[in-house]
Amino acid sequence: MYIGIDVGGTNLVAGLVDQEGTILHKSACPVNRNWSAEELVSQLAQLSVRVAQEGGVSLEDVEGAGAGIPGLVDNEAGTVVKTPNMPFRDTPFRELFQRELNIPVHLGNDADCAAAGEYWAGAAKGCDPVVMVTLGTGIGTGLVRGGKLYTGLGGAGMEAGHLMTHPNGLPCGCGGLGCWEQYGSATALIRMTRSAMEASPKSLLWEVCGGSLDRVEGRTPFQAARAGDETALQVLEEYQKELSYGLISLSNILFPEVICLGGGVSSADSDLLLDPVRELVHRGCFDKDRLPKVVRASLGNDAGVVGAAMLCRMI
Ligand SMILES: [Zn+2]
Repeated sequence: MYIGIDVGGTNLVAGLVDQEGTILHKSACPVNRNWSAEELVSQLAQLSVRVAQEGGVSLEDVEGAGAGIPGLVDNEAGTVVKTPNMPFRDTPFRELFQRELNIPVHLGNDADCAAAGEYWAGAAKGCDPVVMVTLGTGIGTGLVRGGKLYTGLGGAGMEAGHLMTHPNGLPCGCGGLGCWEQYGSATALIRMTRSAMEASPKSLLWEVCGGSLDRVEGRTPFQAARAGDETALQVLEEYQKELSYGLISLSNILFPEVICLGGGVSSADSDLLLDPVRELVHRGCFDKDRLPKVVRASLGNDAGVVGAAMLCRMI
C-alpha cells in the first residue's frame, strides 16, 4: 500500500493507493497561502496519516509515500529545489516529512508523476517507452523508459514544453522565445480563440462564451466547432498543427511506443483533437514502421495522486 500526494496551489490531496494504482481512499485540505514551506510539509504528513486512518490501513502497512510537486525536485537529495507558485525553495522535504511520518518518501515533478501514473495504471499500461504530455497553463511532459522516469541532470529534464517550435516567436516564462508551450498549451488555445473572435464578430464563438472574451475557456472552441462554426474549426486546425510540432520532435527523438495526451483540453471529442493530431504526428514521423500510438490519458483528475504513489514503484 502506498500514499500518493498531489500538491496543488489551492488544494492538497492525499490518496491511499494499492500496488495496481487503484485509489482506495482520498482526503483533501485547502492550502493556506500564508503557510511556510515547513508548515506545508507538516500538513502533508498529517494529511497522509489521516488518509491511512480513514482508509482503515495501519501505517505499518504503508510501504512509502510519493509527492507530486509543481516545480523542480531533486529526489536523490529529497529536496524541493523551487516552485513558481509555492513557498518551497531548497526545502529538505523528505527530512521534514519524516519528522512526522517516518516512511520512505519519493518526490516527483507533477508532469513526471502523470507519466508514472499512466505507465502503471492508465492508458500507457504495458507500453514502453511512454511519453506523457499534459496540456494546461503550459505543457508538462514526462518520459518512462524501462519502468523508470527519465528526469535528466538534477531532476530537471524532460521539459519539452520549452522545445523551440517558432524561432524568435512569442516570449516564454523560461526566458526563451518561441517555445512549444506558447503555442500548444491550453493557454495558447485560449489566446488563439480570442484573437480569432476579434477578427470574426459573427462567429458562434461569441455566443458560446456569453459575448465576453474573458469567458473564453479551453473548451470554448470545441463547443463552437461541434456546432459547425467555421472560425472555431480554423482555430482548432491551427492548434492541432502547433500541438503536432512538438509531438513529432518527441517522436523522432525518443521513439515512444505511446504518447498520452492529458489535461482538460485532451477530453475534447476525438474527431476535433486526438484523431487529427495523431494523423499529423504520424505524417511527421520519419520511421513509418515504428509509429507511436497517440492516445488520451485515462487517469484524469486522479493522475496526480496515482502517479505520486507509483513513484514508490520506480526506484
Ligand atoms: Zn520556454
